[in-house]
Amino acid sequence: MSQSISYYSTNLKAIPVSFKEALLKGLAPDGGLYMPSSLPRMEQGELNDLSGKAYHEIAYAILRRFLATEMPPDDLRSMTREAYNFEVPLEQVVERKYLMRLDQGPTASFKDFAARMMGRLMQYFLHRENRDMLILTATSGDTGSAIANAFYGLENIKVVVLFPVKEVTDRQRKQMTTLGKNVQIIGIEGKFDDCQALVKRAFSDPELNPLNLSSANSINIGRLIPQSVYYFYAWANLKKSETEKILFSVPSGNFGDLMGGLIAYHMGLPVKKFVVTTNENDEVPLYLRSGNYATIVPSKNCISSAMNVGHPSNMARIIALYGGIMDEQGVIVKEPDTARLRQDMFGVSISDSDTKAMIKSVYEQYRVILEPHGAVGWAGLQEYFKAFPADSGASQLAVCLETAHPAKFPDEIRELLGIDPQLPPSMVGLDQREESWDTLKSDYNLLKKTLLNKYS
Ligand SMILES: *Cc1c(COP(=O)(O)O)cnc(C)c1O
Repeated sequence: MSQSISYYSTNLKAIPVSFKEALLKGLAPDGGLYMPSSLPRMEQGELNDLSGKAYHEIAYAILRRFLATEMPPDDLRSMTREAYNFEVPLEQVVERKYLMRLDQGPTASFKDFAARMMGRLMQYFLHRENRDMLILTATSGDTGSAIANAFYGLENIKVVVLFPVKEVTDRQRKQMTTLGKNVQIIGIEGKFDDCQALVKRAFSDPELNPLNLSSANSINIGRLIPQSVYYFYAWANLKKSETEKILFSVPSGNFGDLMGGLIAYHMGLPVKKFVVTTNENDEVPLYLRSGNYATIVPSKNCISSAMNVGHPSNMARIIALYGGIMDEQGVIVKEPDTARLRQDMFGVSISDSDTKAMIKSVYEQYRVILEPHGAVGWAGLQEYFKAFPADSGASQLAVCLETAHPAKFPDEIRELLGIDPQLPPSMVGLDQREESWDTLKSDYNLLKKTLLNKYS
């Protein structure tokens, strides 16, 4: 029943490849992002079968639709079981409005979901071919620690993570810099966008070919597909009928998380709408409203720091999914189906002051602690209800993704709520561990020299 799916480049100038190749390459040779040429369809019966299953079983049921032709079922089954060995709480806030807490993994952010599966998939294929690889990735805080933890100690893979020195919290940094072994952490004196630009340049530099570079940030298709799973999981657990449509609010930066949701929706998941919520970096909500896309350079610094992105790398994929073409500079070369885009997505931008007010009011009203990213998402959901009052009733099922644990943002929580959020088990003792990292100016030639010295 399974047909193999090929992966094309959003720039349409590279030949389509298998999942394995797209995973190990990261970026397509023409600078585009890999996208599945078709999406497997989950029929109603298959959707119904997801009810009552554990998270790792749902992950298997979804991922096998993509990977059945690339590996035996038992191999995939054991990878999903190992990757998803933690809770995924669906926490009721009020009526049928829920938070999906994606913060119980080893680095307490939703990025664990993607990184842990991608790490295992890469290791699986590399090991089979007896190959080595250097992962080079940029992080705005949470990707790096999720990637570093997911790959830590693996045999065939070394990891270099670039992060903007001033844009990550102490705890986010410590989750990366306290590892060691095959993991090198470099603080860049610049912004996340600078880190991302350095990584992109390294990938297009033929002199770095001998390092066998691969990317693990949200441009990698191996991260994207596993991120569709929790949308199925939320629906399977909360729906009251088999055709009930669910509303999702997704706090977004690079739009990998949202892409996961869109993949689930285009595979047949009954979704009412995606509330696409950003902080003050509002290029996508503005685009959804006006049809004009303008990057924000430099990106604005907001307290939801993992979402300080002025030109989301997954934008080209969203445009591709809706039939258009966007180049790397953010120029729309071919218009997508904007009517359909607007029908599926509602864009909202939330200011820092509204984010803080939301953290306070949700705590005062419901005793639920949100951290800044989840608060942006929750505020976006409220804006949606204001715009579509017909959907705001008690019976509408809605899920806001809480993408990080409040304990990762102790200063904000203390300032706003006067309490110290309890640490998740993965973070106990972290503050005391010893750190080690390097610092570099945001200068490509310096980075290149560093990499060649150490890894060639
Ligand atoms: C990365 C991140 C986001 C944004 O996710 P994207 O896939 O980049 O849109 C939101 N919240 C947190 C905590 C994150 O780490």
